[in-house]
Formats: sequence, structure tokens, C-alpha cells
Amino acid sequence: SPILLWFRRDLRLADHPALAAAAETGRPIVPVFIHDQAVEGHGAAARWRLGRGVAAFAAALEDKGSTLVLRRGEALQTLRGLVRETGAGAVWWTRLYDSDARKRDEAVKAGLKDDGLDARSFAGHLLFEPWTVETRTGGFYKVYTPMWKAVRGRDPGTAAAAPSRLSRPESFPESDALDDWRMAAPMNRGAAVVAPHLVVGEAAARDRLDTFIDDKIADYDEARDIPAIDGTSGLSENLALGEIGPRTCWEAGWRALDAGAAGAETFLKELVWREFAYHLVHHTPRLTTGNWREEWDAFPWNEDETRPEVLAWKQGRTGMEFVDAAMREMHVTGRMHNRGRMIVASYLTKHLMTHWRIGLRWFEEHLIDWDPASNAMGWQWSAGSGPDATPYFRVFNPETQVDKFDRDGEYRRRWIAEGQGSPPRTALDYFEAIPRCWGLGPGDGYPDPVVSAKDGRRRALDAYSDRDF
Ligand code: FAD
Repeated sequence: SPILLWFRRDLRLADHPALAAAAETGRPIVPVFIHDQAVEGHGAAARWRLGRGVAAFAAALEDKGSTLVLRRGEALQTLRGLVRETGAGAVWWTRLYDSDARKRDEAVKAGLKDDGLDARSFAGHLLFEPWTVETRTGGFYKVYTPMWKAVRGRDPGTAAAAPSRLSRPESFPESDALDDWRMAAPMNRGAAVVAPHLVVGEAAARDRLDTFIDDKIADYDEARDIPAIDGTSGLSENLALGEIGPRTCWEAGWRALDAGAAGAETFLKELVWREFAYHLVHHTPRLTTGNWREEWDAFPWNEDETRPEVLAWKQGRTGMEFVDAAMREMHVTGRMHNRGRMIVASYLTKHLMTHWRIGLRWFEEHLIDWDPASNAMGWQWSAGSGPDATPYFRVFNPETQVDKFDRDGEYRRRWIAEGQGSPPRTALDYFEAIPRCWGLGPGDGYPDPVVSAKDGRRRALDAYSDRDF
């Protein structure tokens, strides 16, 4: 009988344990994608990017003689319907670890097993399953560096090549038309601006990795911290949807390290930050919703999203150039440099004393590389409420950060049009990407700071020292 292969954030053919196992059986494979909120996240950019990824993956499957069946609806009911239509005896998928996905998957597995089906989940989204990496005393790692040391020499297994053809059922069940899902709808006009910045699909992700290893990894140690330089892999967009497997990246990183490439070890370390985030989310699901360190519940976070300074932050009009450049980069490209993410998150949570959840949601709405674990860890790390976080009193100063990471102003000029005689296309694109209702144009002057770097810092530290942590 056929195997239903339920694809979610694993839109690839190579380095895919569930697909490799299914291909090995010789049984017909019915690849399925279900339009489901828990997988998509709730953000407009991520949903739109997912639609693009699904289209690319459907085309890749066609090249292998197969067809991606698209369905909309509650996962268990939809899968049961497909089992009836196809006579499948098995439903297999790649495991996810955030709490929304896990709750759904547990119910699906129990329901399908009750029906007498072979319901099975496989590894593939991570290098190491969260329950296989333990401290000496048997718990999970709450600090990054010891976890890195524990996994550095571990073998995550070899990435399998893509199967050359996929065995087909006699006929495929009917599929929805992807266009009918209107995945781009909430993006409005922003989609046209962001689209040229996307790198979609497995083949493109593979090229991206190869280009990074050939051209960039040697300088990665220094270049990765300078937001004006395109010095990082850019793979977060593809890893988020599984268009490339982490093992494929790990293997490439190790080959580069063995060949003596400077920067290779740092790249491997970054891949382990992604693991760290997922292991944390697996062991403490509240990472995505509430303060990881519960004592932070007592902190006077401001959760009023209607404050003008929060709007200024969202718009990229705080009057702090580094903050604004980074926020605008996200409007235009759907991504933000890691240095920018740290600076804008520190600014929102400390200078503006705003709850990190407001920032987390804004990122979720705008990032095309949105990842439930890395986003939550990044925000809680920046806010000081997370595991292995930067201490709260380490307030990034957006002005001195400029001296270190954008000394010649290239990054700020790229994104901030105001005050420039002939601003670059990127800076003008910002005005095309943002909602029209904000009523902003390049003719508006650049704003004064909503709070000075010094006052914001003092206010945050006063609030912090008032508390008994
Ligand atoms: P590279 O420098 O090429 O690194 C390679 C890979 O390592 C990345 O693709 C990513 O998978 C992983 N990685 C690198 N840095 C981190 C990190 N700090 N945490 C976890 N994994 C990392 N990353 C996301 O993928 N999605 C998010 O939604 C996200 N939100 C963030 C929010 C905040 C507030 C912060 C501070 C960081 C966030 N990050 C997020 C982490 C990081 O900024 C991005 O992974 C990185 O900028 C992606 O660029 P790259 O692929 O070129 O990275």
C-alpha cells in the first residue's frame, strides 16, 4: 500500500530521512502538503515565503515523476481523508519541536495509530535529537558553550542523496490549486519589494551553501559582524523551511574546516546555536510564549503596543540610525542582519522597556526566515529573560555600536533615505514596502531620537535595579 509522506518544514529531497526510508521500501509514495496555521506561523511574510517554497518543491517533485498533493484543513481529518482516498497504510513525516507543531503531531500520531495505521515521525530538522544531547547530570544544556563542546565531535550521520525517482501510486488524489490559498494576500504591496531578495527552493539553497563555502567562509569570522557586508550564508531562509538540511550544511562546514578554511569553525558554531534554540524549545516550550526565567514575570515590561515610540520602532523612525537602518532592512528584504537583530531587540526591550513579545511578534510578521525557536531564543537572549542570555545591564548602545560595526556609514546610507541627495534604490524601496496608511515619504525629515541613548539606558537600568532578581 502507498505511503503518505506529509511534508511540513522539510521541503527538500536530499538529506531527508523519512523520504529516503520511504523510497527504500519501493512502495508508492504520495507526497502531501497541508495548509495549516501551526506550521505556517501566523506572520504574513513567513506564510508568503512558505507559499513560494511549496511551489518550488512541487516543481522539484514533478521532476522526479511525482506530484505534491495540496490540501487545506485540520491535519488529522485531512490525513484520514487522504488515507481513505489512496488506500495508504502508512503516514510518515519529519519531526518538529515547537509546542504548536508538537501538540498537533501528537494528536495526529495517536489518531492514525487508533486507525491501525503505521504513523511514524523521523529526524531530519536537526543535527541531533534534543533528547540525545545531555549534560553529565542528565539534564539539557541551558548554556550554549558546553553544548557546543559536547556536540562538536559528534557525527550526525550522513546526508542521503535525493532519490533519483519517486515511485507513483496508480493515481494521485486531487490537489488544491496553490493560487487559491492566496498565501501572499497579507503581504500586500510589500511582496513586490521583498520578492527580488528571496532565494527559494532546494537547488537555490544548495547553490547558496556552495557559494558561501567557496567565496565567503574564509572571511566569515570578521565579515559576519559587519551588516554592510554580505558576509554570511543567508541560509536561515532555507533552513527555516527545510529547503536544505542542517546535516548538509554541517558536512560542508566540516569539509571546509578540514581544508583549513578560517571561519569554518564559527559557521559550525552558528549551526549549533540553531540546535541550542530547538533543544531549549523542546525541553521548555514556554520559551516561545513567556519569560524563560520566570523571575522576569515581575519586571515592569510595558506591553502597550499603541505607544508612539513602539510605532516609531516598527517603522524604523526612532531617530537612532542603526536601529532604523536595521528595521528598514527588514521591511525591504524580509531579513535583518544578526547584528541589527541584536541592536533593535536590545533597543526595544531596554531603551523602550517594551515586552520582548511585542518584538517577537513583529519579527514573526516580517521575517521571511522566521523560525519559532531561533526567534524566541533571540528575543529572550536580548531581553535578558532567556537561557544563557546577555545580562540585562548589558544595554547595547546604538551609537557606539555604529562606531564598531558601521564606521563608514555604508549600512545606514543603504537603508535611510532622509538627508541624502540621491538615496540608493534600497533606501527608497522602504517607502514602497511599508503600509500606505503610515503616510510616510522620502520628503519627511529624519526624526529626532524618541529617547536619547543615555536616557533610555538610565531608565532601563533604574527599573532593573529596583527589582530583586
Ligand atoms: P549565518 O551567519 O550564515 O549562520 C548560519 C546559520 O546558523 C543560520 O542560517 C542559522 O540557521 C544559524 N544561526 C546563526 N546565528 C544564529 C543565532 N543567533 N541563533 C540561532 N541560529 C543561528 N534566526 C532565524 O533563523 N529565524 C529567526 O526568526 C530569527 N530571529 C532572531 C531574532 C533575534 C532578536 C535575534 C537576536 C536573532 C534571531 N535569529 C533568527 C538568529 C540570527 O539572527 C539569524 O539566524 C541569522 O542572522 C541568519 O543569517 P544567516 O543565515 O546568513 O546566518
